[in-house]
Amino acid sequence: MAKYYLGSLKGDDIGLEIVPVAIQVLNAAVEKYKEINIEWEELPVGYPSYLQTGETLPQKTLNVLHKMDGWILGPIGHMAYPKGDPKAINPHPILRRKFDLVSNIRPARSYATLPCLHQNVDLIIVRENNEGFQPDRNMYKGIGEFMPTPDMALSVRVITKRNSRMVARTAFKLARQRNKMKKVTAIHKNTVFKLGCGLFVDSCSEIAKDYPDIEFNTMVVDTFAMNLVMRPQNFDVVVTTNTFGDILSDEAAGLVGGLGMAAGLCVGPQYVMAQATHGSAPDIAGKHIANPYAMIMSTQMMLYWLGNKKKDSETIQAARDIELGVEKVLSQMKYVTPDLGGTATTEEMGIAICKAIQTL
Ligand code: ATP
Repeated sequence: MAKYYLGSLKGDDIGLEIVPVAIQVLNAAVEKYKEINIEWEELPVGYPSYLQTGETLPQKTLNVLHKMDGWILGPIGHMAYPKGDPKAINPHPILRRKFDLVSNIRPARSYATLPCLHQNVDLIIVRENNEGFQPDRNMYKGIGEFMPTPDMALSVRVITKRNSRMVARTAFKLARQRNKMKKVTAIHKNTVFKLGCGLFVDSCSEIAKDYPDIEFNTMVVDTFAMNLVMRPQNFDVVVTTNTFGDILSDEAAGLVGGLGMAAGLCVGPQYVMAQATHGSAPDIAGKHIANPYAMIMSTQMMLYWLGNKKKDSETIQAARDIELGVEKVLSQMKYVTPDLGGTATTEEMGIAICKAIQTL
């Protein structure tokens, strides 16, 4: 029996709509397997939590997360949080750091029926999650972002060998697991950032030696940005530093249908957090038209990751079923949300995916 204790942290705005749908889909997939047991617990986070408890990330939430196998974090609408209140912090960077969620896995995949700028795209960007430019001054000995004079701002970028090696290993493992082009491309700008990007590339090259079956190459970030737009089919797994990954993964999402299609998974040595790449979309919150795909596929990746961790073939198959159910609904285009050209609500798209999974 594979048992999982999972958290539901809905977050803000459209999170209240898409997280319940993602949970419903995961439950529909695991229901088919007798040997998978999932216990869900909802934990307060974000603005609804602030209204209820006075904090956007209560200590109780952190305490329970430490005992969990994984959790879903809905999008966070931190721009709306009251300024100057230390209890109204943006929970999401805190969670990534506290739980050492070093790698952020962001796939971009095209579907033949969807209006995409490119077809036959199936790539993954692995982004370092906790370093790079540090707006939080206290993270590394007080170095972060600061203004030595009112007319000058300094943003310091942190790159460590540890995290660079960890994201590289995540990328190589994915390339092996996917068994597609078996290729990892490290993106950098070591022509300018000789130390920071230099250390990153050297660390990736070291890890590459452990994966002789995987082709490894490097590319300067500006060259990659152009190649991503012109020939995204040439890439398999891409690994890069925090800010480059942030920008490039949104660019990749734009190639395959927009932010509603941008799934993400944050992983570390011990914990896993499913978190769609997009924000809380306050402009469409409450209208039930948010595309649940990114949240569903983030949750699917979490299930797959957990199945691999526990070496449980049923859990891995349940994750595969979600992928197939989603593929079926997208191939029929009957129940898809307006951003994909349909008229379905968030919930209708979720129900269609559940039904597709049940009839696989
Ligand atoms: P953040 O700064 O919090 O990352 P953002 O600036 O990336 O947020 P989003 O909240 O992601 O902004 O929204 C950008 C646009 O994409 C908005 O018009 C929003 O409605 C749309 N959008 C984002 N997510 C979805 C979704 N799941 N379904 C449909 N549209 C979405």
